[in-house]
Amino acid sequence: MRFKLELSENQILNLDNSTHQVLAIKRDDRIHPQISGNKYRKLKYNLEQAQAEGKRTLLTFGGAFSNHISAVAAVGKEFGFETIGVIRGEELVDKIATNPTLKFSESCGMRFKFVTREIFRVKMTEGFIRNLKKEFGDFYLIPEGGTNELAIKGCEEILSEDDFNYDYICCSVGTGGTISGIINASKPHQKILGFPALKGDFLREEISKFAQNSNWELITDYHFGGYAKINPELISFMNQFKADFGIPLDPVYTGKLMFGVMDLLHQGYFPKDAKILVVHTGGLQGISGMNTVLKKRQMPLIS
Ligand SMILES: *Cc1c(COP(=O)(O)O)cnc(C)c1O
Repeated sequence: MRFKLELSENQILNLDNSTHQVLAIKRDDRIHPQISGNKYRKLKYNLEQAQAEGKRTLLTFGGAFSNHISAVAAVGKEFGFETIGVIRGEELVDKIATNPTLKFSESCGMRFKFVTREIFRVKMTEGFIRNLKKEFGDFYLIPEGGTNELAIKGCEEILSEDDFNYDYICCSVGTGGTISGIINASKPHQKILGFPALKGDFLREEISKFAQNSNWELITDYHFGGYAKINPELISFMNQFKADFGIPLDPVYTGKLMFGVMDLLHQGYFPKDAKILVVHTGGLQGISGMNTVLKKRQMPLIS
């Protein structure tokens, strides 16, 4: 399976302070225009597995603005799979045209099944999956957010040889798949800091299931009230960051991550000579969807 990826380079930020710290951003957001960052990493070996099993269709789950839904739709088109997205929220059925994520996914050929929040909660039960197979025929199932063993194997490829020079590696955490891959690939002298984009303590346990090393920690102070919650302070930070460094951030994951890293830097959390690598996991497709929400709420927009 051939797939051309742009090189994901580390971009060093000019920190303009008197410490000897190095802060670099791994631009995994740039590996592909549509299938950005960790969502591609997580799909890579699942696609190979689906092909090996002779599956023609990929089925997965997600919310209205899901980076994962958008990535599955795009890889389906690129690799010749049919794709089905089971979407949380029945009301979205007639909002496809005004929802950038769903509109893009549909343009890639994805078919949708919109379900209530109650049904979405039980989406992985045997009965529900059996009904999906009756409706759509056989498929390769990818969990919501894309995290499984093969996804973690893909995320073990995020770090390259040069990255072992860094003392800290920071990344955003949703389901914990990405950080688990990074932890498994890291060296013992490195510390992996995860910044959850949502509230809740279940993540430590999730990550412990997959992570083979213990050189990691979660920083839980920067979720901004929960998943996809946002406030003017975060928006203003993201816009300023883009203006200062030319790097766009997404509102759900990497914006919160970067806000957290910068805040810790200012607080003196990192030692004087620390070399810090922040993984930009992509997610930029979510900006326009978030902006439609912000506009309705008459809040400042993401630039
Ligand atoms: C999905 C996503 C994450 C979270 O990845 P997990 O493997 O679920 O922890 C982080 N950043 C971006 C941009 C994402 O789309």
